[in-house]
Amino acid sequence: MQHLLDALVPPHCICCRIPLRRGAAGAAVCDRCAAEIERAPGSVVRADAIDGGFAPLVYEGVGRRLVSALKFSRLIAVAELGAALIVDRAPSGWLEGALVPVPASPLRALRRGFDPAWEIVTALAGQTGMNAAPVLRRGDRGRQRGRSRGRRLARPPRIAAVAPAPGRVLLVDDVVTTGATLDACARALRAAGAASVRAVAIAAVRPR
Ligand SMILES: [Zn+2]
Repeated sequence: MQHLLDALVPPHCICCRIPLRRGAAGAAVCDRCAAEIERAPGSVVRADAIDGGFAPLVYEGVGRRLVSALKFSRLIAVAELGAALIVDRAPSGWLEGALVPVPASPLRALRRGFDPAWEIVTALAGQTGMNAAPVLRRGDRGRQRGRSRGRRLARPPRIAAVAPAPGRVLLVDDVVTTGATLDACARALRAAGAASVRAVAIAAVRPR
């Protein structure tokens, strides 16, 4: 029986990777990370073309660890936890319409074979019953990560809708830094017929 539990319950905290005590029923997060998540203030997400944005965690401490665990360790449990935090803390009335993932760059998606935004959308769809509508594609203009804030804002990603957009959209990404990508997504969605575009992410850089 213990072998079965070990296989089902990750033996390490999905957030900081410290070993977990056995038998903590279903817990995938250590006490310290759980406490940090519990008291996280959340963050407003800003981008010109969206009607509002929200992330349950700021991109520091536990928020940063969770996003890394999803992006680099590909832990689906993190997508489920992030989605649960969004569902729990989103302003009322936000979990309506269709879920549109922020598209990964084609090169990066190909290289990794794993798309964090899509995993969060899948988890959110499962938890809320909302539909997923992956209608956006991104042309590749190289990497955003590692570029300065100024350069990222000056050169937003090229994003287009490849199908009519739902009228009411909840855009989903793993982390929001400058908001330039969300802005480009929202403009493409509006051009494709969306009337309302809100955005959520697991974590967002604290507004300056
Ligand atoms: Zn932890």
